[in-house]
Amino acid sequence: MLGALDDTICAIATPPGEGGIGILRISGLHALDVASHVVRLRSGKALHGLPTHRLTLADICAHNTNAAVTGIKATGAPRFIDEALVVVMKGPHSFTGEDVVEVQCHGGPVILDQLCRGLISAGARLAAPGEFTKRAFLNGRLDLAQAEAVLDTIRAKTARSLTLAQSQRRGELSRYVEEIRSELVVALAHIEAALDFSEEDISFVRQDELMRLLDVTLHKLRRLLQSGRDGRIWREGAVVAILGRPNVGKSSLMNALLRSDRAIVTAIPGTTRDLLEESVSIDGIPVRLVDTAGIRRTEDPVEVEGIRRSRLAWVDADLALILLDGSQPLSDSDRALLGEPQSAHALLVINKCDLPSELTREDLDCLCPTHRDILEISAMVPLGLDELRKAIRSRLLPGGLESNEGVLVSNLRHTVAIERALQGVDQGRQSVADGRAGELIAMDLRIAADALGEITGVITTDEILERIFAEFCIGK
Ligand code: GDP
Repeated sequence: MLGALDDTICAIATPPGEGGIGILRISGLHALDVASHVVRLRSGKALHGLPTHRLTLADICAHNTNAAVTGIKATGAPRFIDEALVVVMKGPHSFTGEDVVEVQCHGGPVILDQLCRGLISAGARLAAPGEFTKRAFLNGRLDLAQAEAVLDTIRAKTARSLTLAQSQRRGELSRYVEEIRSELVVALAHIEAALDFSEEDISFVRQDELMRLLDVTLHKLRRLLQSGRDGRIWREGAVVAILGRPNVGKSSLMNALLRSDRAIVTAIPGTTRDLLEESVSIDGIPVRLVDTAGIRRTEDPVEVEGIRRSRLAWVDADLALILLDGSQPLSDSDRALLGEPQSAHALLVINKCDLPSELTREDLDCLCPTHRDILEISAMVPLGLDELRKAIRSRLLPGGLESNEGVLVSNLRHTVAIERALQGVDQGRQSVADGRAGELIAMDLRIAADALGEITGVITTDEILERIFAEFCIGK
């Protein structure tokens, strides 16, 4: 697939269904020839004569045939389909780096379908998912991390995840990774030169200099890895489980957080584990709230079943909120939940603070030593929700965002590559410290440099490309 750039591809770039405008994209060596079969400029001029990047009014006409399917040549005059605005973007100054034509017509499925068929009978091929972006990569318009960021940009769930995706698309991550990689490559060149001239007793790199360089590289890679968790949370969101015995106000809290959410809220279809889930933006972080109130109530007096199910929710959660009812003394179920080993990492929230507190001195003494943050809220009034949101955010992103200077790893593929690079540099450093042969050091550093190269695509395989672009939608 790597070299399949000689044909011309087309696809509907707008989402399926009806819309004010529908856009069809054509890219490739023969994009203008293919488009000329269906586009009639109102000026009567030829499409080839159009200046690049300029919108022009045109009629869209095509033969009433599905020649692409039947192979039967169309006959007779072409039929008017729609009027449209057409733009030609001449390569290499286009998204794909090839000649591109985009047709903006009315967003009706029949119009777009007929237009697409017309282009296919004129010689275009229907694009595979992500093929436009893949061509942009293969033609050197984007590196691999930037191409992946195109998808992140489209899928961003909050304003903050969009900012991160755009920074990666502009190449900030790529530049940083390339900087680390080229430092490794320079070190490698020195080591290899020393190997080539080993008999002449020339020293190309001092051991202490090499150690210092590898230490700096290790530090940079570790920081990148640390940023990975934050990046994943900004990009994919975090899971926050609300735990607590029946009637403490779990559903009320979930509803209160949802009601005040001004970002887009998407309902998540029922899960298999009987938990209620909703997506909400908490201080810009996309959060999936899991309400264990969806769990069927149990007759079991000590709530063994409730605890068992809470554990299940806990396993998948980035953060758990243990909710208590402040208007009642602690019950055995509360104590059982608080006695769970993970409870020390949970955020403790006392609800119903609009009612007189019935938590005893003894209850509070039992809570304070084990939990550093205890928040008081009322899900009903509501009270204390802003503080709760801030506490959730600072628990999910303890380092704060600013400390990462904008370069964040958010993609699992990148994280895995950085882990491999880190391992390689670590081993290389150990070999230098142990005074081992240059060949061995070089081998470790080569592994590390290649792993980093996979992030930007300097080093890549068909398999990696197929896997990445298969995630895209057709038309992107
Ligand atoms: P869940 O079983 O933990 O999901 O609890 P619910 O959300 O269903 O709430 C149980 C009861 O407590 C309901 O009658 C709520 O109206 C009430 N409730 C929830 N939060 C508050 C609160 O902050 N103050 C008061 N006074 N009542 C509350």
